[in-house]
Amino acid sequence: MKLYQTEAIVLRASPVRDADRVLVLFSPECGRLRVWAHGASRPTSRKRGAVQPLCRSRFLLERGREIDVIRQAEAVEEFSSLHDDLETFSLASYLCELVEGFTPEGQPNARIYLLLLRVLRRLAGDRRDLLVRFFESRLLALSGLRPELDVCTVCGECPVTPPLRFSPHLGGVLCGKCRADGPQVIPCRPATVQVLAKLLDWPLDRLGRLRTDAATEQELAAVLQASVCYQLEYEPKSLVFLRKLRG
Ligand SMILES: [Zn+2]
Repeated sequence: MKLYQTEAIVLRASPVRDADRVLVLFSPECGRLRVWAHGASRPTSRKRGAVQPLCRSRFLLERGREIDVIRQAEAVEEFSSLHDDLETFSLASYLCELVEGFTPEGQPNARIYLLLLRVLRRLAGDRRDLLVRFFESRLLALSGLRPELDVCTVCGECPVTPPLRFSPHLGGVLCGKCRADGPQVIPCRPATVQVLAKLLDWPLDRLGRLRTDAATEQELAAVLQASVCYQLEYEPKSLVFLRKLRG
């Protein structure tokens, strides 16, 4: 019997036969893992709190031939404020869905783990849409897909001539002279590019001081959501749900 311990955030929990669940965990040491939780849906299960989505827990796991199995689980941080309203919960679920989509199974990425943890801790507070934009931009960067903002992705010149546009397909800005093929090229003002550059470089603690307006935040959302969907090759379910929720 080969046992190992790790802490992890529960990204997703799917009911399977009887009262069992299959969880998708994200651990700083082990990366993304699929594990089996016996009896986790039973009201009397001692593991129950620790295997809920969004919970940060400590796990004792046993290696299995096809899937590892949870032997013990203890909740460390439950993020209960994220469960207070449906919109906050949906935003948190969106972050988890992105981590699941962007990280390969079994490859640790402690910086993405820390990013998720720090953003979840603030998500029930102010300016959460900007916080989600911060998360999307940093997740792209930590996955080796940092958006190119300094030079035009077609001609390589400094993109100073408006109108600027952003190509999710090319992963960066286009200057006013260049045309790019591809289904989605998003109009993007210089102010939006500047805010995106700050999201990519500023520490999280400074985010409260970042000045934006509604139009900039709208463009940022369009640019970053199109970028993550392009990379994933699908639209996350939680993003579709959020759009419906907000009408
Ligand atoms: Zn150009």
